[in-house]
Amino acid sequence: MLIKDAPAGLVRSLHWYNPSMDNATDEPLVSVIRERYQHVLGQIADAAARSGREAGSVRLVVVSKSQPLEVVRAAIAAGALILGESYAQEAIVKIAALPETAVEWHMIGHVQSRKADLVARYFSMLHSLDSVKLAARLDKYCDELGRILPVLLEVNVSGEESKFGFPAWDEGHWQDLESAVEQIMAFSRLRLHGLMTMPPFFDDPGQTRPYFQRLRLLQVFFEKAFPQTDWAELSMGTSSDFITAIEEGATYVRVGQAILGPRPI
Ligand SMILES: *Cc1c(COP(=O)(O)O)cnc(C)c1O
Repeated sequence: MLIKDAPAGLVRSLHWYNPSMDNATDEPLVSVIRERYQHVLGQIADAAARSGREAGSVRLVVVSKSQPLEVVRAAIAAGALILGESYAQEAIVKIAALPETAVEWHMIGHVQSRKADLVARYFSMLHSLDSVKLAARLDKYCDELGRILPVLLEVNVSGEESKFGFPAWDEGHWQDLESAVEQIMAFSRLRLHGLMTMPPFFDDPGQTRPYFQRLRLLQVFFEKAFPQTDWAELSMGTSSDFITAIEEGATYVRVGQAILGPRPI
């Protein structure tokens, strides 16, 4: 009997057994992550309830970028349903190593056009569509694969130069975004479902509230301008501010360190 086929109890009872020998999960790590995951789910449910929303209206993306494979494996064993990655190249190594899992992989980071094929091939959803050029590349690869890719438009609501996303910090210029949206809507293999943003970092999570509110207002603006398109999803909020984001209407929160611990450097 191969060790990977042995009953888990038997495997654990083998004192010489070293988990790194096969794909077994690290049980202590799983239980730590499970506890944090459940805690965050509880915080999500509380924040949703306070805002008069169903807990199920907010989905939790567990951000596994920069985390090693054993942490990703433990996150899945702990119950994570959606994993968020920021670097296509790094992500596909993990995706290839975990072929039998049912998790959804979401791309949440900036995608270089030359990595568009990886996103089209391996991801369930893209949160960070930040240019028409990228949209065109994705559409082409999705067409070759015969698939539809759900996407969110990433917008920059702060004006910070370090942030990706369509410029949306100035309400007076929101109309200028309409032509990009029209072009993106015209790609038959991409389905727009809403907006995503990454506000500036503050020690006090309350300070991100105006940025989340701005994303919500932009959603209303686009709902009026393009009522034929689905704008329902708002991907906003990380470990430091996901509760505020839910209070302001988030439907996806992207939480990494609060569940998986600090990212290795
Ligand atoms: C890293 C990252 C997150 C998660 O940040 P944490 O502090 O680990 O919760 C969320 N969204 C994006 C776009 C990220 O790059």
